[in-house]
Formats: sequence, C-alpha cells, structure tokens
Amino acid sequence: MQLSCNNNHFILLLQLCSINFMGVVRNTKAIQELTSLFLDDEKALSVVEIVNQLSSKMNKTTVYRALKRLEDDEVLHSFIDRDGLKCYAKNRDSNKKEVHPHFHCKSCGISICVPFEYEIPKYQSHKIESAQVLLYGKCDKCL
Ligand SMILES: [Zn+2]
Ligand SMILES: [Zn+2]
Repeated sequence: MQLSCNNNHFILLLQLCSINFMGVVRNTKAIQELTSLFLDDEKALSVVEIVNQLSSKMNKTTVYRALKRLEDDEVLHSFIDRDGLKCYAKNRDSNKKEVHPHFHCKSCGISICVPFEYEIPKYQSHKIESAQVLLYGKCDKCL
C-alpha cells in the first residue's frame, strides 16, 4: 500500500516535470520560428504580419509571449507604425541607440530601421523616458 502510494507520487512528479519540459520546448521552438522571420536586418514586421506568417505553427498568445521575451532579452525592439500597429525589428549594432527613427513607406507599407542617431531633446525639468520618430514617405523601390 505504502509502495503504491509512493509510486503514485512519483508518477505525478514525472507528469509535472514533463509538462514543464514540454512548455520549455514549445517556447524555445516559438522563439526559433520567430527569430527566423527576422533574417533581414532592417525590415520591421508588424504583429499582424508575424501572427499571419506563424498562424499554421502556433497561436496568437504564444506569438505575443515569445515577442515579449525577445524584446525583454533585447533581441528585438518595437515601435508603433503609422497605422498604429506594433512593429518589431532586430537589434543590431547600428540601431543599438536607444532612439533611432523608423521609416514607413506609404506605397508598399514597408517599415525599416533608419540608422541615424537621434537625441531626445531636453524639456525643462521634465523627464522624458522614451520617444519615437517615424519618417513617412516613399521608399527607393516605390519612387
Ligand atoms: Zn515602398
Ligand atoms: Zn528599429
């Protein structure tokens, strides 16, 4: 009796471990799938594009969770484009600056990181913590 009780505990423990393990594996896979979308260094992807491209592989919640993790780990950064959509782009040396502008093409809708330095202006005694500069126009392919 005692033995079977222990066995049950052991099996339960194993089940709990495997659930955690599966969770980790799935999460890592989501991270891999996501980072593989960002092969182009400059091009940003909106959440809608990201969710659509991964819709056959994972659900929205998993995508959002993985995006948040990649942003927290400073693999990606985000900004809001002209349509109010959150966009993500890869972090690299030329855009490590906390604030760099983004360009949004009104013809093809592409959003890219612009490797310019941009300094947040000082404003009296106010503390500005973040700023966003969105350049808007036509890209070289649409001109
Ligand atoms: Zn364009
Ligand atoms: Zn950027």
